[in-house]
Amino acid sequence: MIRLHNFINGRFQAPASGQYLPNDSPANGQVYSEVPDSDQRDVEEAYQAAARAFQDWGRSSKQFRYEMLMRIADGIERRFDELAEAESKDNGKPLWLTREVDIPRASANFRFFATALLHFDAQVHSMEGQALNYTLRHPLGVVGCISPWNLPLYLFTWKIAPALAAGNCVIGKPSEVTPYTAYLLSEIVAEAGLPAGVLNIVHGLGGKVGQALSEHPGIPAISFTGGTATGAQIARTAAPMFKKLSLELGGKNPNIIFADANLDEAVRMSVRSSFLNQGQICLCGSRILVERSVYNEFRDRLVAEAKKIKVGHPSNPEVFMGAVVSKPHMEKILAKIETAKQEGGIVLCGGERAYPGGEAEGGYYVAPTLIENLSMDCSTNQEEIFGPVATLTPFDTEEEALALANSTRYGLAGSVWTENIHRAHRVAARLHSGFVWVNTWNLRDLRTPFGGMKDSGVGREGGFKSFDFFTEAQNVCVKIEGY
Ligand code: NDP
Repeated sequence: MIRLHNFINGRFQAPASGQYLPNDSPANGQVYSEVPDSDQRDVEEAYQAAARAFQDWGRSSKQFRYEMLMRIADGIERRFDELAEAESKDNGKPLWLTREVDIPRASANFRFFATALLHFDAQVHSMEGQALNYTLRHPLGVVGCISPWNLPLYLFTWKIAPALAAGNCVIGKPSEVTPYTAYLLSEIVAEAGLPAGVLNIVHGLGGKVGQALSEHPGIPAISFTGGTATGAQIARTAAPMFKKLSLELGGKNPNIIFADANLDEAVRMSVRSSFLNQGQICLCGSRILVERSVYNEFRDRLVAEAKKIKVGHPSNPEVFMGAVVSKPHMEKILAKIETAKQEGGIVLCGGERAYPGGEAEGGYYVAPTLIENLSMDCSTNQEEIFGPVATLTPFDTEEEALALANSTRYGLAGSVWTENIHRAHRVAARLHSGFVWVNTWNLRDLRTPFGGMKDSGVGREGGFKSFDFFTEAQNVCVKIEGY
């Protein structure tokens, strides 16, 4: 049994409660680690350490912070195999995926924001001889970073790296469902020589640790990625205290496939956008809208590809889908599929738990599921499922496609598939979502603004947007006489 520790003030320590939570591997359902069940006392201790550390870190040179972050990136790369295996075991996702995406991206996040820092500077606005304005950007102090379980180290570092680069000290709270790589990161950070208290990692439940961070009067900003309901709870707590909030929340993203699209590519990418990471990516295309004249052809080809997907133990290099993250989450997905049937949905493939057997015995697997014959206003098409489940719906016109695509409370991402360049631009601009892909999906440039509209969130992260969030702007206006 592996026992994880909190990382506070540069030390590995037990939670104040002395209690631990069991953590299982979704691949076989076996408990293999114990996670600190921390509470407000641990958050307070972390806060005191971070506030002390901020006295120096907040005034340190960019070069010093750059070097520290690059050393952390080096440490991630040195322990690449261990991290990739840990993430796969903790989350249930295929090992090839953690090796190709999660862990490379975690070190890339540190390198990207370390180097971006060197290019981030004050802006100047000249008032034609009357005055000169310059806008300084100050770090905020001690910030809270709360991340979900679907891309554990990837999203944790996506927040921590820019926060640290901008000169803040951080209290990070990973999801208690997938805490392992965040724990390994605390070892890497200690090895890299980051000054004590600059980064603190407090493990535990959202209702205790996350809530304590949102409530803490000394923490002026929370960067949160997770579900929309949790985001609303954080906003209720933090907004009256005038905290800065970056909320990256849920999605119910449309893939819009027009008849003139390259159908080979549209089918290939719809398989990925529906089922990559077991459908547990906020950007997954869970509503596939297809122009009626090619609907049957597209559907039949997509279903044929989905049926070929191999579901199995995450360590098997041949599987495309591993386990979903937990037993309760698997049960939630299966219940949503039952609801879809009650709403009149026809299950074209999957629709049930998968039992790959062997070393996957006891794990939480769901077969890739495609459903048609649902109205757009039913709950299956309106509520996030966050699993390997997508619906198919035909449309007749561009207007109808847009109306269907924009008809949910979410507005995170969408993809448009057409060979008509005019239509591509027109439809992209009219989609109510923070992110639109044309003839591709999930192609990411870390410099671009990332975030959602409507109930998918508030604010944008990525590139200098992250630095804007993690700093406070201060304009200094200097009058010039006799110019
Ligand atoms: P949750 O909202 O359940 O949890 C996210 C994090 O918040 C966890 O660390 C959780 O802790 C914590 N938390 C829970 N309650 C509180 C609280 N009251 N105060 C503060 N923190 C709290 O999301 P999931 O982990 O289930 O992640 C899946 C969700 O994340 C999906 O809705 C998905 O769409 C969204 N997501 C959004 C992305 C985006 O960029 N827009 C990217 C990735 C995912 P605990 O684990 O203990 O509950």
